[in-house]
Amino acid sequence: MAVLTSHLTAESRNQDSDLMQILDRQRRAFLRDGPPRREQRVRKLDALLALILKYQDSLVESVSEDFGNRSPHETLLAEIIGAIKPIKHARKHLKRWMKPERKPMELELMPARAEIHYQPLGVIGIMAPWNYPFYLTINPLIGALAAGNRVMLKPSELTPRTSQLIKDMLAEGFDDTEVAVVLGGPDVAAAFSRLPFDHLLYTGSTPVGRKVMMAAAENMVPVTLELGGKSPAIVGPDYDLKHAANRITFGKLLNAGQTCIAPDYCWVPEGKVDQFVDLVTEQATSMYPSLADNSDYTSIVADRHYARIQNLIEDAEQKGARVIEINPASETVSNQRKIPPTLLLDVTDEMDVMEQEIFGPVLPIKPYKELGEVIDYVNDHPRPLALYHFSNNAGAKQRIREQTTAGGMCENDTLLHVMVEELPFGGVGPSGTGGYHGHYGFTRFSHAKSVFRQSKLNGAGLLNPPYGKFTDFMLKVMMKR
Ligand code: NAD
Repeated sequence: MAVLTSHLTAESRNQDSDLMQILDRQRRAFLRDGPPRREQRVRKLDALLALILKYQDSLVESVSEDFGNRSPHETLLAEIIGAIKPIKHARKHLKRWMKPERKPMELELMPARAEIHYQPLGVIGIMAPWNYPFYLTINPLIGALAAGNRVMLKPSELTPRTSQLIKDMLAEGFDDTEVAVVLGGPDVAAAFSRLPFDHLLYTGSTPVGRKVMMAAAENMVPVTLELGGKSPAIVGPDYDLKHAANRITFGKLLNAGQTCIAPDYCWVPEGKVDQFVDLVTEQATSMYPSLADNSDYTSIVADRHYARIQNLIEDAEQKGARVIEINPASETVSNQRKIPPTLLLDVTDEMDVMEQEIFGPVLPIKPYKELGEVIDYVNDHPRPLALYHFSNNAGAKQRIREQTTAGGMCENDTLLHVMVEELPFGGVGPSGTGGYHGHYGFTRFSHAKSVFRQSKLNGAGLLNPPYGKFTDFMLKVMMKR
């Protein structure tokens, strides 16, 4: 069934074959057992919940060790509670989600019935990144299990302790024909993306997302791509600058900016930039009065990413940006792989920092005169994963909502749309394909099968040949309707 690509080395062919065996076992088990009933799905979700509760302390520890330091509170909020909430939500709503949906029927086909039946797709592949290594592995798993699928997971190699813990804990609660975890680096990830899954969900950067989509295309595997991009924050001239500074600083510095929906850069009305800089500095200082040995302030995950962010700052400075570092206790933090919150002024599109997703605690600030200028800029650049608009002006809010396109947005806040289980989460174009979470996760990992149910009494044969006057009459009626 899989299309094997001839240019692979012997080693990668072995890798493909090991992974293929797991997939085969899962697929055979799926076909043998059929779609699980609701009670079985709920039991799986309960098992997952029990594992999370059992291992929460170890998870908090392992994530922090992987990062160098990650705030335990942020791990509890974003990873542990972030995973518990969708399990409870899915359990509560599963009965309604699984129920076949009755649809209105065309007059001429009555009294037949039209229904949508939600069927599990089979075996789902999930590839997760390192920035929220637990949440971004488990959250899609919840949707896939709720929809009745088998799942193969590939967590990130950049968070090895957490990925190993995920593998161990899931092995404790699930047979590997139900949920299997595969560990490894880019080679394994590439082999994983070549598997003939029934659906593949990938979370990570846009450049690797492109490779994943191409690999999946070989086998016509449908993909959900949860990617990144440069998510703008826009502060309206009418808006309380202090409140905007508070929420943008929070969104930017959570996990030290290593958040896919962090505000990447910020638009501030011309003339208010200096005041905004003071307010962000004040806010960041009150949140993190010190950085070194402050467990609230997260380290950058790896040397490579640390160097990447430092290079962005240096490149911007060399090309004329003003750099404002917020390091309230004037500490040396590089030895802890921490980067102080950093504001960049006078940025231009020639700077790398305005071309690439920053994914770190660095906030470029751009002044603007008129909202149209901001809308044009956003529309001239790749569609972002998120957009944040701060304004109480109804007209301006409507313009931003209607004239810009982003995966999701918040008005007068940052990040929080991701927490709403009733909203689909995902990007658009280069920031992603397909949303999930809650009911949208259930439908993403289900096949919505159209079912036409003919009734005993029906007029189906009335349009059979030989065609004659009655057919002409029926066609006329149908043309008019
Ligand atoms: P990445 O794309 O650099 O790496 C992801 C994984 O891809 C790695 O673990 C690697 O093993 C694998 N990989 C490398 N080469 C591959 C190949 N040829 N084929 C298949 N897989 C390959 O992303 P990252 O650094 O782990 O994560 C950061 C990015 O993820 C950011 O862009 C961020 O915005 C995005 N992100 C998006 C979301 C979302 O929900 N939309 C969430 C978190 C992060």
